[in-house]
Amino acid sequence: MRDANSTQNSLQDRLRKLPAVDTLLAQMAQNPAFKEIPRTVMVGAIRQSIDELRAAIKSAGNGFPESELDPDAIGRRISDKVASAMTENLVRLVNATGVVVHTNLGRSLLAADAVRHMTEAASRYSNLEFDLKAGRRGSRYTAVEDILCEISGAEAAMVVNNNAAAVLLALDTLARGREVIVSRGELVEIGGSFRIPDIMAKSGGILREVGTTNRTHLHDYERAVNEQTGLLLKVHTSNFAIVGFTASVSLPDMVGLGKKHGLPVMEDLGSGTFVDFKKYGLMKEPTVQESIATGADVVTFSGDKLLGGPQAGILLGNREIMDRIRKNPLTRALRIDKLTLAGLETTLRLYRDEAGAVKDIPTLSMITGPLSHIREKADALCKRLRAIDDARLQVGLLDSVSKAGGGSFPLLEIPTTCVTIRIDGLSASTIDRLLRQSRIPVIGRIEAELFLMDMRTVIPDEIEIIRHAVGGMLD
Ligand SMILES: *Cc1c(COP(=O)(O)O)cnc(C)c1O
Repeated sequence: MRDANSTQNSLQDRLRKLPAVDTLLAQMAQNPAFKEIPRTVMVGAIRQSIDELRAAIKSAGNGFPESELDPDAIGRRISDKVASAMTENLVRLVNATGVVVHTNLGRSLLAADAVRHMTEAASRYSNLEFDLKAGRRGSRYTAVEDILCEISGAEAAMVVNNNAAAVLLALDTLARGREVIVSRGELVEIGGSFRIPDIMAKSGGILREVGTTNRTHLHDYERAVNEQTGLLLKVHTSNFAIVGFTASVSLPDMVGLGKKHGLPVMEDLGSGTFVDFKKYGLMKEPTVQESIATGADVVTFSGDKLLGGPQAGILLGNREIMDRIRKNPLTRALRIDKLTLAGLETTLRLYRDEAGAVKDIPTLSMITGPLSHIREKADALCKRLRAIDDARLQVGLLDSVSKAGGGSFPLLEIPTTCVTIRIDGLSASTIDRLLRQSRIPVIGRIEAELFLMDMRTVIPDEIEIIRHAVGGMLD
């Protein structure tokens, strides 16, 4: 009982030693380095530090190191928090994963011209919703609709915030309260918990699953058609592939069935590309133009996956349906902003000349670029890293494969060259963590206990950044 009491007393003693917010505020104000720090940041860092110490005292009991309560130690704790509060949260990093459209690392990088247009739209007034010829209010979407129709061959076009929004909007417009027939093999979940059945429920469409996970036939769709049917939906199984004993119904067959029953057919392409990657020695991905030519009534896809533009959702198709979609009040809630519009317009214009697009749009050039270019970057990095000249560091080259990402080409592995690093006394996962925590983070990957950097997605001027980060680990 006495012991319990004395522990209780010393706990109270320690808690009493915690300085008050005002005391710390006055103490920090002595330091000229903190002169420019906003008061809200300072107070927040102080409160957080006191809270942390209080929790540590309570949980560590007698094991709590008294030194933590030294004014210097508390000062350091506060200044760390101030430093992190004063640093932007969204930071650039080096993508050395080799995954070109990496959803966690910002998906697509924009072409330089698209960035130029976005900067201009951001810093100057524009004719965003103003018809310069007529001198009156205009539509925000005209900037991209014509060019979308021109390159895709579609009758009409519409753009929203992202493809998830495009799918929601199309289903809400065409299938609210009606049945939507979808193959069980296409009820996908993509990253960020976007699931076809959930989006269907939100839109008010009634999911009518047909077929099995691995095989669905045209007669499965045919049998499911009834007076309640509102739409036939095909979803591109972007991020996985069913292999082996499989069967799925092609878009032309679905379009045929739709015509027969007077039902619209929609295809969610997911990634969506205007370029036939087969021409570049890669796997076939269905192109947007092919889906439109086949006669799909609505085709939806992302702006920032294989297209290589800003985040957006693009809807193409039949004029009458697009007009209905445009009138849906949800459209206003899902509209894109002017920066996206500017970046998207310029990206789309680049597609008028495919060779130019493949060269200037980073997503395309990284996917289709020759192995020799990747090898050159790998050689350059190796040379810079060897110049560090530290006996603990071993640098090497490794032939490997990279992924396109962004829920495209699930099975595709593109030959690439990686730079490997080994450091005496550090495991691959420690190297991975330290590089991730460098001033400009470097994100690589680990294969068979070896840390490697896939040079496909590394931009030449980032080689110096990697050298700094690796050098920093050896200091
Ligand atoms: C990626 C994807 C979506 C969602 O697109 P976002 O632009 O990320 O909203 C929808 N459907 C499929 C099949 C996808 O691959």
